[in-house]
Amino acid sequence: MGREIEAFEGQEFQNRKKRLMRTCSIALLSVCFFANILYSQESPTACWYYSPEHEPPEHQVDMQHMRLEVSFVPGKSLVRGRVTHIFSPLRERVDSLFFNSPGIRIVSASLNGSPIGFTTSPAGTTVHFSNPLHWESTDSIQFVYEATPRRGIYFVGWNDSTGRSRKQIWTQGQGIDNRHWIPCYDEQNDKLTTETVVTFDSSYPVLSNGRLLGKQLNGDGTTTWHYRMSHPHSVYLVMLGIGKYATDERVSKGGTPVHLWYYPEFPDRVEPTYRYATEAVDFLEREIGVPYPWESYAQIPVQDFLYGAMENTTATVFGDFFFVDRRAFLDQNYIRVNVHELTHQWFGDYITGRSGVQSWLHESFATFYAKFILQDIYGKDAYQWERRQEQESALRASAQDRFPILHPRAGSDRVYRKGSAVIDMMRYTFGEESYRKVVRHYLKRHAYGNVETHDLYQAFQDALGLSPHWFFEQWIYRGGEPQYAVSYEDVTTRAGQRETVVSIRQTHNTDELVKLFSMPVVFEVHYRDGSADRVRETIARESETVVIPNRKGQEIAFVLCDPGSWVLKNISFPKTYEELEAQVTYAPEMIDRYDALHALSETPVDRKRDLLRKVFARERFHAMRAEVIAQLKMMSPRLPARYAPGR
Ligand SMILES: [Zn+2]
Repeated sequence: MGREIEAFEGQEFQNRKKRLMRTCSIALLSVCFFANILYSQESPTACWYYSPEHEPPEHQVDMQHMRLEVSFVPGKSLVRGRVTHIFSPLRERVDSLFFNSPGIRIVSASLNGSPIGFTTSPAGTTVHFSNPLHWESTDSIQFVYEATPRRGIYFVGWNDSTGRSRKQIWTQGQGIDNRHWIPCYDEQNDKLTTETVVTFDSSYPVLSNGRLLGKQLNGDGTTTWHYRMSHPHSVYLVMLGIGKYATDERVSKGGTPVHLWYYPEFPDRVEPTYRYATEAVDFLEREIGVPYPWESYAQIPVQDFLYGAMENTTATVFGDFFFVDRRAFLDQNYIRVNVHELTHQWFGDYITGRSGVQSWLHESFATFYAKFILQDIYGKDAYQWERRQEQESALRASAQDRFPILHPRAGSDRVYRKGSAVIDMMRYTFGEESYRKVVRHYLKRHAYGNVETHDLYQAFQDALGLSPHWFFEQWIYRGGEPQYAVSYEDVTTRAGQRETVVSIRQTHNTDELVKLFSMPVVFEVHYRDGSADRVRETIARESETVVIPNRKGQEIAFVLCDPGSWVLKNISFPKTYEELEAQVTYAPEMIDRYDALHALSETPVDRKRDLLRKVFARERFHAMRAEVIAQLKMMSPRLPARYAPGR
């Protein structure tokens, strides 16, 4: 749905996420890439499913600028506002114009400075032009209004008689909730510059989008804060955050001012909460290859937030359960959510999907870079392990249904996590530098504009001259994952040449939704002397044979299919105990050692005890050690009595 459902650590947040997922599963819309429409409608799970209402909404004018002036009576949850929209008609004649404004009381409306008639409905306000507007013109409409909204803007703690709550005002616009406190065209397929002018009690600092142009003391105990965006964004990204805050001011290497808001009574929480905050800006500029696209970046924790965090342009809001000290940091920290939201400043805010179904273009990239930075911070093992968790999420989702990432019912596991695994495969398949070239082109080509999935595909054509329809089709427009059955033989040919012959079959059921997959797969033969041979072959047919020459006639220790586990897949590859022992001991990548270790779980304890002890002593990554302990735990009857579990 596009509402933020971020990666929470800890059960409390997992539970909250599950509740959200149950309630938020409806709004991702389907897309039609190939025009096989009639066939598709017989098949509700197919990616070809097409429905006209899934198109981006039509609109008659191009919104260019919005000036919002607001003040509040927080005890009454009252918004008093004046909003001015500057726009150009997209049609030859525009007789009337509709604005989303459910529940808002419009006091007056004016066109280009003169009063104008309007009518209201439960959904919004329509202004009627006695002389139609024409597409050569630039016009402005202003509304003066009041609202006591129950969505979009939240007044926290102002009526708390116990005095224990913080007093805050904050907003959450995504998906379409800013319309409850701002009369506006509230869809993501129009982008405009915005400015916010907020007058409030001087003891409460105000954060909004863009650069702070000025602060004016009004002499009556209030201050007026004036923020302005210098580049366009979508209305759902407009935000306010108001409360008792101090700020920590930093600057990224590229010169972006980073304003980190915090509760002033907890200065000790600033360092752990915002650890790597500017380094993350540097990391993303380096990896994405496009400078941070806005004038500044701020982050603000708020009480009772609805989600984990929200990537409002230049000003991310996050739940203050992530505002932690050094000790709590160990249980739950903000690092990954921080990078996720920061990535949205490019993927989501700088370029924005035309409609909700395109939200994988936001969420998959945000999830991917938040995972990718783990390699810089915690090392390659952490990055591999997280990729494996994503792959398992996708496979678990496939056990329920096989909706494609672009299906309305894809669900968060696919839009966020499978999508992130797909971005990994994009880098793996086409190469890191090629991937960067495509992404750079895609972002710059659509800077401050709207995109859909085909624009990413087009970027492959423009930047690399490639047409990877097969990749997009199997991973994004269709559902499911490959199931591989792998085995090998150690063969000596008649010519006396020794070679390893790997057989690989795709054994999943195929139909109009899930076809055979085409993917480059690496095969690695490791020999007992510690050397290895490696080939990379495209596996596309149902059954393929891959030959890896063994030129020195070495004895094989173990064989790996897809070392590093780049390909999202189910795999069956039976191995002997000796092969698993060699793999868990000598495979270069942690995830391959882990797979061997896990495959030993059914092996009788007497056979593997010494091996497990060696693995535990050598390995440092938590998943390896935890797996050893889990398998040793199964040996518990052999432990001395004092270690036996209690009754
Ligand atoms: Zn996100």
